[in-house]
Amino acid sequence: MLARMSAPISASQPFPMHVSVAEAHEMLAALLPDLETETVSVSQALGRTLAADLSALVSHPSATESALDGIAAREADTLTASAEAPVRLKIVGESRAGMPFDGRVGVGECVRIYTGAPLPEGADAICPVEQLADEESADDGPAHVHLLRPASPADVRPEGGDFRAGETVMRAGLRLSAPRVALAVSLGHARLPVRRKLRVALLSTGDEVIEPGLPLQAGQVYDSNRVGLSAMLNESGCEVIELGHAPDSPASLQAVIAGAGGADVLLSSGGVSMGKYDFMRDLLIERGRVAFWKVRMRPGGPAILGGWNGLPVFGLPGNPVSSLVVFHVIVRPALTGQPVQSLKLRAATPFRGLKDKTAFWRGVIKDGEVGDYGPQGSGILRSLSDADALVIVPEGGAVQVGDVVDVVLL
Ligand code: AMP
Ligand code: MG
Repeated sequence: MLARMSAPISASQPFPMHVSVAEAHEMLAALLPDLETETVSVSQALGRTLAADLSALVSHPSATESALDGIAAREADTLTASAEAPVRLKIVGESRAGMPFDGRVGVGECVRIYTGAPLPEGADAICPVEQLADEESADDGPAHVHLLRPASPADVRPEGGDFRAGETVMRAGLRLSAPRVALAVSLGHARLPVRRKLRVALLSTGDEVIEPGLPLQAGQVYDSNRVGLSAMLNESGCEVIELGHAPDSPASLQAVIAGAGGADVLLSSGGVSMGKYDFMRDLLIERGRVAFWKVRMRPGGPAILGGWNGLPVFGLPGNPVSSLVVFHVIVRPALTGQPVQSLKLRAATPFRGLKDKTAFWRGVIKDGEVGDYGPQGSGILRSLSDADALVIVPEGGAVQVGDVVDVVLL
């Protein structure tokens, strides 16, 4: 059995090591709080999680209307219409979006109609403008039109055909993508109940790690992880508490973490591996609590989950590819409650498997197949930038050309 954070783990107790990706995800999710509900304007709702079911306050369409520009008529009058023998109808009016025709369409009659305009009484079908031939009319006579094919009821949008007032259309827990925010507006909502944002404190570690744009000395590296992770947290709908960067000393690490007041979880990069100067690891193992250390995955194996003064801490490895891949497959699904979306593709190249680790190789998608990106080292940040997807090779498996593999889009 895997120990949970709710069972305190001290330095003297063993803790689980080499957990699976699924276990790591579950254990992180178990440490996160239930988030309260708040109400935001629809224009602020993108990326948030819906906190309650949403019903339609109105029907859409709100009236039976035309899907096309053309004429509205009685289908029965037009059944014989063809290019060789057009049917002639008298135009008795016009229905525009927002300005309906208030009469009735009788036998042998029609009304000019435009997309989204209400279907007049008496009419039950539409003939598109492309299938009409206008007749020259005498100045004082009524206008007529010739239909080159029958009018069709399929081009009528029935009232409530999309949704009806009172219908529950969106479920609590849904992540509000752009189309979903738009749908919420058409349901009649101007404000939406959403979960409050998870507050994630973020820091990077390493004596060699420097701020973007500073002159780089030999042996130094720009702090790409902090900017990359911050961007991914923002994309995931989290509030980021930027703690900055801690050099490799226990005292400076603790001083930086002390700024995490109010956070729900702390995310760090670096200092969790096997080295002498990996102080994030020491801090959790020797003075904090550990839920697990190391995940059976590559890249990303050294990740550690624990707690420090009651704050859940997830320590990502410093290697840029490792930290971002662990974020993709473990952290984001736990923070957002949305499972990793994978799809199946045929392999265009072989992918090697690892005996006791799940591999996430960078792949390139071409012509509906996925091939090896090339350099797969966990320091090769270009591989994540240039690749299209992570190809998942399960523990002990290997992929041959033509096999179907699971991939996660980047
Ligand atoms: P560590 O996990 O601290 O042992 O770091 C592993 C590798 O990742 C080293 O090559 C580090 O220089 C590099 N690294 C650590 N932190 C960062 C960071 N914030 N941005 C870019 N590279 C990093
Ligand atoms: Mg380091």
